[in-house]
Amino acid sequence: MAFDIEMIKKVYANFGPRVEAARKLVGRPLTLSEKILYTHLWDGNTNTSYVRGTDYVDFAPDRVAMQDATAQMALLQFMQAGRPRVAVPSTVHCDHLITAKYGAEVDLPAANTESKEVFDFLASVSNKYGIGFWKPGAGIIHQVVLENYAFPGGMMIGTDSHTVNAGGLGMVAIGVGGADACDVMAGLPWELKFPKLIGIKLTGKLSGWVSAKDVILKVAGILTVKGGTGAIVEYFGEGASSMSCTGKGTICNMGAEIGATTSTFGYDESMERYLRATNRADVADAANAIKEHLTGDAEVYAEPEKYFDQIIEINLSELEPYLNGPFTPDLATPISKMKEVAAANGWPMKIDVGLIGSCTNSSYEDISRAVSIAKQVDEKGLTAKSEYCINPGSEQIRFTIQRDGFLDVFEKIGAKVFTNACGPCIGMWDRVGADKQEKNTIVHSFNRNFAKRADGNPNTFAFVGSPELVTALAIAGDLSFNPLTDTLTNANGEQVKLDPPQGFELPPRGFDVDDAGYQEPAADGSGVEVLVSPTSHRLQLLDPFKAWEGTDLKGLKLLIKAKGKCTTDHISMAGPWLKFRGHLDNISNNMLIGAVNYFNEKTDNVKNELTGEYGPVPATQRAYKAAGIGTIVVGDENYGEGSSREHAAMEPRHLGVRAVLVKSFARIHETNLKKQGMLGLTFANKEDYDKIQEDDTIDIVGLTTFSPDVPLTLVLNHADGTKEEIVVNHSYNAQQIEWFKAGGALNIIRKEAAE
Ligand code: SF4
Repeated sequence: MAFDIEMIKKVYANFGPRVEAARKLVGRPLTLSEKILYTHLWDGNTNTSYVRGTDYVDFAPDRVAMQDATAQMALLQFMQAGRPRVAVPSTVHCDHLITAKYGAEVDLPAANTESKEVFDFLASVSNKYGIGFWKPGAGIIHQVVLENYAFPGGMMIGTDSHTVNAGGLGMVAIGVGGADACDVMAGLPWELKFPKLIGIKLTGKLSGWVSAKDVILKVAGILTVKGGTGAIVEYFGEGASSMSCTGKGTICNMGAEIGATTSTFGYDESMERYLRATNRADVADAANAIKEHLTGDAEVYAEPEKYFDQIIEINLSELEPYLNGPFTPDLATPISKMKEVAAANGWPMKIDVGLIGSCTNSSYEDISRAVSIAKQVDEKGLTAKSEYCINPGSEQIRFTIQRDGFLDVFEKIGAKVFTNACGPCIGMWDRVGADKQEKNTIVHSFNRNFAKRADGNPNTFAFVGSPELVTALAIAGDLSFNPLTDTLTNANGEQVKLDPPQGFELPPRGFDVDDAGYQEPAADGSGVEVLVSPTSHRLQLLDPFKAWEGTDLKGLKLLIKAKGKCTTDHISMAGPWLKFRGHLDNISNNMLIGAVNYFNEKTDNVKNELTGEYGPVPATQRAYKAAGIGTIVVGDENYGEGSSREHAAMEPRHLGVRAVLVKSFARIHETNLKKQGMLGLTFANKEDYDKIQEDDTIDIVGLTTFSPDVPLTLVLNHADGTKEEIVVNHSYNAQQIEWFKAGGALNIIRKEAAE
């Protein structure tokens, strides 16, 4: 099923020589992050020393991972590429579309019925194109990747922001949009701005109630949700090597919560132990053979301030358990201060539910430490005060903890064991009473705690902590409880104290699993039929976008002049629309419904120039499309910021918008527009934004000689008969101009594949 040892050996064969070449080129010792980046350059040649935080670089990732919600559009696009098989090892994981309610035994069959067509589609595409398929219930993408695919020194992209979890096994693993995944699977380079580097030196050793989770909760408090933006966070020091591999995974996982591009750790014995325990002795042997290259150079860690853009030092021996929240993962409160901070803020003290597991904290170590706390309920005559739920990260973990009796212990304190899937972590939690929107507190070991994230109730105060702390708090049922100092009253009226957690880094009897839930793709998928019903509301095969007609674009109408912030969420909303992610036409009914119309300050209300009436943006655009009239969208600064969601570029393209003209773009969105064959333009003079009038008819001139660095002209034909010309810039290079002409990058890939 699993990893591709031949691919890993190939990566390692080049690793040493490429690291040495990079070191020579850069003229100094290298961090681990730089080693992984330089060994994964697309052209393989290390002849440029890249400027961190400035240069855009093409990379060749080793793997692609996709979760079920984002895989749909990534794979629908891949099908357009005309390739018989994916170019790099890739996997699909069905974990996001499973609602948690009663427990796995009821919830999983229900999800298999409700999302059957999506799962069948993903299974059949995977089978056809050589993609490993992990069925619903097999586990959460990042846990499954850590157990099966991550390897030291590798580079991976995944269509989920917590792909970064694989840094726990020494990878550079980065979350991307479906269009990027599609490119890499089609054999194209993947572009990234060469990241800045933040070094975090860990000294001392974890002990007692303190766990790896507390390291990242502390870091989140220091760096805040934006502090890691554009940077790789590299951990090092004796504290790093004293920690388990899965603990490192937890830390890297929540690097997403500080906005970091990714996080990573150097290869060490904990990783070797984990690789061997998860049946990958050959990867461990291969890594050992080049281990000096799989960590930063000694000189770097001796004088880190010389090599990193920022340095943070944390002494693990002085760290205390943290509880971060509510509503943001960077509001870090040490447990010793929680009582006074919660009281001062009026946070509800009664804890209704404790939840452990998820991709962040599902390791054997996590669960064994939590169980050592749960056991004490019985041993000390206590009663657990809160509800308690578990989302195991994989079937392998679930099977092993059941075999070892841990689930029995949890069930004794009333635990509900949900499916090995995301469930409450992604809002797929059908929580009884959440619709009443009552103020309440929950504690969990997940990573995110934004309002409404877990149960849809904006008044649920969610706090993030380690599984062992969450378990202790669920037993106490009280947010102000500090297990390090406080006692609980047992059934006999005695005051008892919980003993600190104890656990096992790895299962003493090894991991075990009956059916891991993996489907190997067909060796030759050419005869496999991809299953999409033409009447489906959730899935729709894509038709190639039309090529450019070869002329200037004349007579365009203004669809909307968006005012102020216009993120990918404003352009293509999430929430209830998520279920249409595999159906471009249906999801296009959310196009720009969150954008504010400059002319009336309303959302989803624009003038239809054909009728003179105001109406919703998607319906208005569909009317223009039906009449064969192209349109233009005008926007403000940093248009398309937020996520790499390709739907925000595909929807306007699908509905017939011809150009997006803004004061400035968020870069990923600009690239996504280009990939879809859309014109993305910027005002040469930002004040010209004011010249665009609601009733304008617009021409874009200069396309017949469209070339890099040559601006285009916009002719604004105002309703009063006057005319104005404005200059608009673009950032298309020669290749991207070809994308525009062909009607999208995929049209070119498909043509090349056919040749
Ligand atoms: Fe994302 Fe939560 Fe699922 Fe992890 S468990 S992949 S954070 S939704």
